[in-house]
Amino acid sequence: MSARAARRRRAGRARRGSLGEDELIRRYFTRAAGSRGDVLLGIGDDAAVTRLARGYDLVIATDAIFEGVHFPAGTPPRALGHRCLAVNLSDLAAMGAKPLWATLALSLPAARPEWLAEFSGGLFALARRFGVALIGGDTVRGPLGMSVTVHGRVRPGRYVARSGAQPGHGLYVTGHPGDAVAGRLVPGTARGALALRRRFQYPQPRVAEGAALVGLASAMMDVSDGLHDDACKLMRASGCGAELDARQLPLSRALVALAGTEAAREFALTGGDDYELLFTVPPGREPRLRRLAGRWGCAVTRLGTVVARRGVRWRLGAEPFEFRDRTYRHFA
Ligand code: ADP
Ligand code: MG
Repeated sequence: MSARAARRRRAGRARRGSLGEDELIRRYFTRAAGSRGDVLLGIGDDAAVTRLARGYDLVIATDAIFEGVHFPAGTPPRALGHRCLAVNLSDLAAMGAKPLWATLALSLPAARPEWLAEFSGGLFALARRFGVALIGGDTVRGPLGMSVTVHGRVRPGRYVARSGAQPGHGLYVTGHPGDAVAGRLVPGTARGALALRRRFQYPQPRVAEGAALVGLASAMMDVSDGLHDDACKLMRASGCGAELDARQLPLSRALVALAGTEAAREFALTGGDDYELLFTVPPGREPRLRRLAGRWGCAVTRLGTVVARRGVRWRLGAEPFEFRDRTYRHFA
């Protein structure tokens, strides 16, 4: 295209408040080779080239979030930038991996500078916190959604799979499950509602905690669909079951104040979007876990015990505990 035509096109875009693809990528997603010396070639070529340090295994995860499915219309773009990376870092955390690099496939109905600045601001703030470099991606026009792939590393074989739980192991969860879903569902701008909404919009991936659990946890996953459903998955993968006590659920004060204890329990069990770690620990290692977890910035709660009999059963003290299943399923 001639320089004049290009100028005309840019002027037209400026009037419409949109910008071209190359300029968009350069402005909002390219950061001077960033943080990491192991990125040999980052954004700008056909593919990125990175170098995995000797003596490590590569761990890879992909998660996509779409408007209307994973987040409601009107979610602040800064939260979306944070969230699309956070849910992926949470998957790496659940393996015990250290995150290194990320790619981003972004689908947008329109390229609006204010939106993009906020979105990339949220993304890079989180990336910097965990030393992750954005090394590539794709940008297309379409419904609002993002798919991120993250790459991380572990020492050879030193990851935590879902399959290692055995009868007698304790089952634990980090943080306060239920807050996020309440934050998504509860309207209003009261202080409690806003605090919970932040928990939905800005999930905190438990990266350091996940890495610390390598060699300690026998099985691990992150809670994204809902605590009960995910506990079932963890136990199924391990070929076991679990007996858990709903009185032990670490309900946050904000959640109980807003929803009442009964609904709070249902949110915690079936809400989803928590991005906490769910893991099992053999009895011999539980004292070490307690010492370690005392120094973490998040709650760590023992919910009960792994048993040989399949299925996950909840009690409320001595009584069996029944609850309404609000778990969201993409394909019921
Ligand atoms: P191609 O035509 O080869 O797909 P693109 O124009 O889509 O190239 O991308 C150019 C460069 O920008 C590539 O290095 C690609 O990885 C990167 N890229 C594109 N979109 C994004 C994005 N949203 N975030 C980060 N990098 C991106
Ligand atoms: Mg492309």
